[in-house]
Amino acid sequence: MTRLLFQGIEGEFDASNELRTGSAASSLFPAPCSSSPVFDKLREECGVVAIHGHPDAARQAYLGLYALQHRGQESAGIATADGQRLANIKGMGLVSEIFTDDVLAKLPGSMAIGHTRYSTTGDSALLNAQPIRVDSTKGLIAIAHNGNLVNLGNIRARLERDGAYFQTTSDSEIIVQLIAHSRAGTLVDAIADSLSQVDGAFSIVMMTRDRVFAARDPRGFRPLSMGRIKNSAGPDTIVFASETCAFDLLRAEYIRDVLPGELVMVTEDGVTSRQYASGVPQSSCIFEHVYFARPDSRIFGRWVQESRDQMGRQLARESGVPADVIVPVPDSGVTAALGYAEEARIPFRFGLIRNHYVGRTFIEPEQRVRDFGVRLKLNPVRNLLEGKRVVLIDDSIIRGTTSRKIVRMVRGAGAKEVHLRISCPPTISPCFYGVDTPSKRDLIAANKSVEEIRRFIEADSLAYLSLDGLLHCCQGDHPTGYCTACYTGNYPTQWVDAEDILPATVSF
Ligand code: SF4
Repeated sequence: MTRLLFQGIEGEFDASNELRTGSAASSLFPAPCSSSPVFDKLREECGVVAIHGHPDAARQAYLGLYALQHRGQESAGIATADGQRLANIKGMGLVSEIFTDDVLAKLPGSMAIGHTRYSTTGDSALLNAQPIRVDSTKGLIAIAHNGNLVNLGNIRARLERDGAYFQTTSDSEIIVQLIAHSRAGTLVDAIADSLSQVDGAFSIVMMTRDRVFAARDPRGFRPLSMGRIKNSAGPDTIVFASETCAFDLLRAEYIRDVLPGELVMVTEDGVTSRQYASGVPQSSCIFEHVYFARPDSRIFGRWVQESRDQMGRQLARESGVPADVIVPVPDSGVTAALGYAEEARIPFRFGLIRNHYVGRTFIEPEQRVRDFGVRLKLNPVRNLLEGKRVVLIDDSIIRGTTSRKIVRMVRGAGAKEVHLRISCPPTISPCFYGVDTPSKRDLIAANKSVEEIRRFIEADSLAYLSLDGLLHCCQGDHPTGYCTACYTGNYPTQWVDAEDILPATVSF
């Protein structure tokens, strides 16, 4: 059962509805999910979308969120505005489970913002699902946020001293409270003022009764793109989305990325923009190219598919090994494996088959079920692996336990040799910018050498892509500054959580 929180269409009312979703929040065989800890992957926090100037804005937001589902599967929400009122509905679960036709019918208006979430800050309760709607001195504002702020504590304490009352523990609300407490005369000045006070990663969409805003933090950690749906009978619909794959479903054309430090405003009169911050070096998240973003998206000015293909090729050049077959760890390792196979001129085969109908096994706390989870999700194709020298391609090793299970599985299917190649450098430090990472003490590469990891995962050989190689693979037409902190420990912001970067205290 999913509980939906309805926020007022006229004023405030909270009504709880029970919605049968068919998802098994308590089942061993739940709904699909691309990023379960069973696979020992890092998890993206959020995806956002915004629509301005469409008669059925809620449905457009729904479609956008549907395409962004891989960025968060815990909760989703859509807020709409019709010039007078601001409605907001959010729930726990997948986008398609929450937003049925009946629910979408409760969201009138030509403007919408939407959010799909996996939380890292604030707890995972419905209270912190987004969009967050706040009735402030500047009027009703709804906000949806992808990323993580890093200077929260100080600002929150200051705002509370100034009389702010927080409804959630989400860092997104801090931005709204800063807007409400800003002394700037106009709303757009207040937003610019508030954004310039927070540090960290944020790609944000916001909405009032009659305007839509989109902004990125000055370093441009998370992606956010602007597009247009052409309307022959009137002004075009303007859309924003975390990834351009959402535009394809909306039949929108890509216009451009929202720039780091830019605040874009869309009104009935058109699109205006201002640079609220400048002069900060760009540090876009390189892991978006490695793993998070969909290969059919163009982010930070480059197609993700192209980057991953190059990563595979570079990996083959840097650490090629004689082999009979190249096998991706599905699904995220597929594009890099194709590049590797082409470069190495070794056949590519789907030697591991993923069951797409198994997902959130991580909600089952028992280790016995977690262990079962890898076998639920992946199965080896024995006739492709038996007697072969196999190169497995994956995009990361986090704790190492899942990699070991996969290596054992391939060997158990008769492989003569199992070599593991990783399409990025060793993950040695946690992320503070909107990605859920274990602390340093739980990251195997922070605590073991590559040779020690190889022995732990029981592979015949192990190699990672070099940092220079990765940076080279992710450069598009224009030079892009990337954050590589999880590979280097060099954080682009001053604020990090010292607890999380302590060395290991546990043995692997
Ligand atoms: S630390 Fe890693 S995951 Fe986090 S923003 Fe930087 S590159 Fe991305």
